Amino acid sequence: MTLARQRSDQIWRPSQLLIPTPAGLYCPPAEIYIDPVRPVARALITHGHSDHARAGHGAVLATRETLAIMALRYGEGFTGERQEAVLGAVTRIGEVDFRFVPAGHVLGSAQIVVESRGLRIVVSGDYKRERDPTCAGFEPVACDVFITEATFGLPVFRHPPAHLEVAKLLESVRLFPERTHIVGAYSLGKAQRVMALIREAGYERPIYTHGAMDALTAFYIAEGAVLGDIRKVASTDRKSLGGEIVICPPSAIQDLWARKFPDPVTSFASGWMRIRARARQKGVELPLIISDHADWDDLQATIREVRAGEIWVTHGEADALVHWCGTVGLKARPLHLVGYGDEGEAESTGEAASAVAG
Ligand SMILES: [Zn+2]
Ligand SMILES: [Zn+2]
Repeated sequence: MTLARQRSDQIWRPSQLLIPTPAGLYCPPAEIYIDPVRPVARALITHGHSDHARAGHGAVLATRETLAIMALRYGEGFTGERQEAVLGAVTRIGEVDFRFVPAGHVLGSAQIVVESRGLRIVVSGDYKRERDPTCAGFEPVACDVFITEATFGLPVFRHPPAHLEVAKLLESVRLFPERTHIVGAYSLGKAQRVMALIREAGYERPIYTHGAMDALTAFYIAEGAVLGDIRKVASTDRKSLGGEIVICPPSAIQDLWARKFPDPVTSFASGWMRIRARARQKGVELPLIISDHADWDDLQATIREVRAGEIWVTHGEADALVHWCGTVGLKARPLHLVGYGDEGEAESTGEAASAVAG
């Protein structure tokens, strides 16, 4: 038997198939990076949030929606080559099979299943388990190593059902019919999910949006999201919007921009709103706990469901989640990947953050 043959018969150790590097998770046998934070020759990208999807790679493999979102944010020249990953289909690179599976995070978001020589690692990217009318739901994939985020990996983070939070918003609109309700929401995913949930709750008046989210909202509608009558704030006299709902990037709720509406009620839709002090600090009158990340319970439920022998934690409250894994007898380690914020840090400064690479 030749040496090469012997090698290909061996089963990979997990650290041979994927390794954390300063540029991101690297797969040596395929020579690709997943969600690299620096420009690389070939990148596989889980979803369009700016901390995961960056411009300037030689080639990008991602879902059709993620490729479109990157083109909207960075321009058509965001990468040298682009290749579409069809959900569920296998793309072989070198001797490694890659498969994109829905992550339930935002439109087009995917986990990436990395499989070679009998070893299967799932890179889940960012994900959530709660239903979202604007994107495909998370699909658990059994694996040997499960790589998870831990943005809300502390027991304090338990997200209530999103429709109950939206009911709070609509109740406030009913109680204060002369005040404008300004809802801060990240411009990719959260904003459109909040609009869709408002419609599911039966609200039929127009919803007004800040210019920073026009292109992404139009893309969601083109992809089939049911958002009803969406109008641009820019083409309306702000003083006439008493009693209406306005959706804007989180940074705008504290801007001068927000003060031009009649007696505004400022609201913010985020998992961070579970922390009262954080809401107060941002001057949020009506905090809505709506998150596109798994909460503490869902992180645990997901880890149990995929039945991995080993858990790697990329970012967020890695130490707490790794500790919990230990208490239930699971091998786990923090990767301390640098460059991934929570959705807040990634996008609180609006589209400007898209250009930031660090
Ligand atoms: Zn994300
Ligand atoms: Zn992220």
